[in-house]
Amino acid sequence: MTYQPFWFDQAMAEETTSVSSASIDENPYDIAIIGGGFTGLWTAITIKQRAPKTRIVILEKDLCGQGASGRNGGAMLTWSTKYLSLKKRFGESQAKWLVQQSENAVHAISKFAKEHNIDCDLRVDGCYITASNAAQQDVLTPCLNALDSVSLNQWQVVNKEQLKHTGSRQNQQALFSPHAGSVQPAKLVRGLRRIAIEMGIIISESTRYISHAKAKQEETISASYSDKNHSIKTLNTEKLLFAVNAWLPSLMPQFSRNVVLVSSDMVITKPMPERLKTLNLNHGAAVIDSRIFVNYYRTTIDGRLMLGKGGNYFSFANQMSDKFNAPSQYQAELQHSLNYFFGDHGFEIDRTWTGPSDRSVSGFPFFQESDKNVVVAAGYSGNGVVQSYLGGQILASMLLNTNDEWQKCGLVNQKLERLPIEPFRTLGAYVIRNGIRRKERAEDNNLAPSKLDNYLAKLSGAAAKADTN
Ligand SMILES: Cc1cc2nc3c(=O)[nH]c(=O)nc-3n(C[C@H](O)[C@H](O)[C@H](O)COP(=O)(O)OP(=O)(O)OC[C@H]3O[C@@H](n4cnc5c(N)ncnc54)[C@H](O)[C@@H]3O)c2cc1C
Repeated sequence: MTYQPFWFDQAMAEETTSVSSASIDENPYDIAIIGGGFTGLWTAITIKQRAPKTRIVILEKDLCGQGASGRNGGAMLTWSTKYLSLKKRFGESQAKWLVQQSENAVHAISKFAKEHNIDCDLRVDGCYITASNAAQQDVLTPCLNALDSVSLNQWQVVNKEQLKHTGSRQNQQALFSPHAGSVQPAKLVRGLRRIAIEMGIIISESTRYISHAKAKQEETISASYSDKNHSIKTLNTEKLLFAVNAWLPSLMPQFSRNVVLVSSDMVITKPMPERLKTLNLNHGAAVIDSRIFVNYYRTTIDGRLMLGKGGNYFSFANQMSDKFNAPSQYQAELQHSLNYFFGDHGFEIDRTWTGPSDRSVSGFPFFQESDKNVVVAAGYSGNGVVQSYLGGQILASMLLNTNDEWQKCGLVNQKLERLPIEPFRTLGAYVIRNGIRRKERAEDNNLAPSKLDNYLAKLSGAAAKADTN
């Protein structure tokens, strides 16, 4: 890892007393987890909470949090705005349950962080979903009506005075839900690492999983890995979880047509608390507009503004390109968004970065048994800060085989749709992306998009953070 996103650098600079884990030993493990991001860590912690004697090891090829978990926007969002898509895919009762669980998860993460002294600047200050142009006005009405009809609507239309708290006059309307917020994601993931180690979970960083096979007796799985000295070793485990997010297509090619890797690009300013106060942005709510490739922004405790924009770079054949580990190559788009919301802002930019989101066809994550005692989690589609906590509950139930509501939920062992093969996938992704961009630029300029661009935008409704088309 040569280039660090802002959050990860900040978290590591503050991590003065790093807790170290015991080493991997030769006795078989009950569960081995590949990947030390939110998913791997929440799963391990949840299993330990439910079954304290379980022997768990986590292999992380870099440092915990150097994947998406330490580089995302830190916007804590729920599935309430995806209720219609959830209902269509999983039926009404599952959709209701998943929306409620996602709202509960915001508060559960906050409670966990407080109880375990994880200092991660987490603020449950809500979320504003805005219309940042005329075309976005009222697009969420069908979703809100559907939520109303099952008494699950937590969104309120904000008045003119409250609208000012979105920080930009570009926002013509907004809805507010209190069940959301923001967090310094790298501090959260590093905090989870500390708690996991304190609970007795073995975490081996700079340790890369290579392959696995059934061990001789067929009762355990033998996994080989390279340790921090590049020595190749093996461990035995009863069950294996792949919590590797964007690395799934490279490690398990059978899933390579179930996700597409696409970058989200981020920019963060230098501290400017006084300026944020004048913009009415002295709070920790996430602000998101209602386009497909959303603009989203939030502030930090030390008075910075972070803005992110999804749907930029698609990597051919889902390779983990070096482009995901560099300053954003979409600085012009980020600058355009800052100008769009904040005019002639003159903000001093501290850093830009990027990272891969694993978009599934449905826009929802999947938790699959890929083989006997081998479980796979992926597909958060850019909505994973809160949802990986739910992933932890689901995966813990799958791995402990508790046969409860988590294990039986619709996200488990789904029939997964497939994306086209290459080169059609990447080609198609760019054609659709460019159509969406043209449509959204036209709407920003109060112009009617072309029929073709409207059509292309409809093809990627699942990519949006809300059911708007
Ligand atoms: C730029 C960006 C912005 C985002 N913004 C938001 C947001 O604002 N809100 C939101 O809800 N979601 C957001 N997301 C999505 C969210 O960050 C992810 O869904 C979530 O972090 C996924 O967590 P994870 O643990 O599954 O994956 P990761 O954090 O990526 O963890 C996977 C880990 O597996 C490790 N690994 C891979 N291969 C191996 C191997 N061979 N051996 C050992 N370890 C291996 C990796 O090093 C990595 O640490 C964003 C994502 C990105 C990329």
